[in-house]
Amino acid sequence: MHFKIHRGTHEIGGSCVEVWTENTRILLDFGMPLVEKDGTSFDFGKYKTLNAVELIERGVLPDIKGLYNEDDLLMDGVIISHPHQDHYGLSNFIHKKVKHFLGKATHRIIEISNLFMSQQVHIENVTYFEKSKTFLIGDISITPYWADHSAFDAYSFLVEANGKSIFYSGDFRNHGRKANAFKWFTHNAPQDVDYLLLEGTTIGRDTKPFKTETEIEAELTEVFGQPGKINLVYTSGQNIDRLVSIYRACIRTGKTLVVDVYVATILRNCRHLPEFHFRQRNLEI
Ligand SMILES: [Zn+2]
Repeated sequence: MHFKIHRGTHEIGGSCVEVWTENTRILLDFGMPLVEKDGTSFDFGKYKTLNAVELIERGVLPDIKGLYNEDDLLMDGVIISHPHQDHYGLSNFIHKKVKHFLGKATHRIIEISNLFMSQQVHIENVTYFEKSKTFLIGDISITPYWADHSAFDAYSFLVEANGKSIFYSGDFRNHGRKANAFKWFTHNAPQDVDYLLLEGTTIGRDTKPFKTETEIEAELTEVFGQPGKINLVYTSGQNIDRLVSIYRACIRTGKTLVVDVYVATILRNCRHLPEFHFRQRNLEI
């Protein structure tokens, strides 16, 4: 088994790892960069008239043979770890016959986002995986592990072939409402992994410890508790953990929560998914 990290070693976002054996070739994530090479914010609008060849020349798309619409297909599958654009955002350029493997909720959120965003990403030819259920792409075996992350439906992966193994963490944290998933993993992590590809967003940063959602909920409760005020909250509509914190603070202070159409659509479309109920079960109210 071989692998190549095409992007994401010196920057946050744009994640893309190619893994292959003699018989099978897969990608772990296919993200849009968050920053340009000079450190300014990445704006895909500047590139949207270019084709895949031109985007490869400019370093926007990684140079991967047999992946793009213009190529003869050589890629057996693309695995998407979670619904953040820096992990799936360039998928429109992938050959239409490539199979995508992702969580059901991840696909649902990407589709909903398309209704509200100018930059749309259509992922077709999908197979849904489930946590802890190993699946095969050719002779490569993949086991998804649930991850605690601000994205609704995030996974890490154990990738195995030819007696070797890679663990790809995807994005993760341990201070969200799914911290128990992280704790479970620390006791059940696969053993004797040969290569660990680890997210490192905050490595080297001199940051204070992140607040847990419980702490954030307590702070919101204090603020919301001040009488006679309407509180405006600006937050990601896909960060369900944070929406839960806001909702709980509203319940505790007797306030009514009003959300915009985007957030309402996300919640309405995800409410039947098991992931959503995992979070509800973890509510203590
Ligand atoms: Zn993420």
